[in-house]
Amino acid sequence: MVCFFCNGKMIEGITTDMIDLETSIMIIKDVPCHKCTQCGEVSFSLDVAESLEKVRFDKLDEDEKQAILQGREDYKNGNTYSLNEIDWDNLDKMDLE
Ligand SMILES: [Zn+2]
Repeated sequence: MVCFFCNGKMIEGITTDMIDLETSIMIIKDVPCHKCTQCGEVSFSLDVAESLEKVRFDKLDEDEKQAILQGREDYKNGNTYSLNEIDWDNLDKMDLE
């Protein structure tokens, strides 16, 4: 696995992630991740990213939840790319319309 930013080597590790909840910040320790040995960039697997997103979602108020759910409807209609659909090696050739 290679770093998206600097092409450095990514190794497995753990990190501390912060979730911004507007009025407070939630700190989650021991989050499994891949870390770049060169620039320190951290990336999460899709599973971990989804779990973090779920934690954040659970803390939102109802209006915000509705807004996000609405966004997910749009996604189902094909307006957005999900992470695992992105072809990182050919970003410049992708039609991001
Ligand atoms: Zn890097």
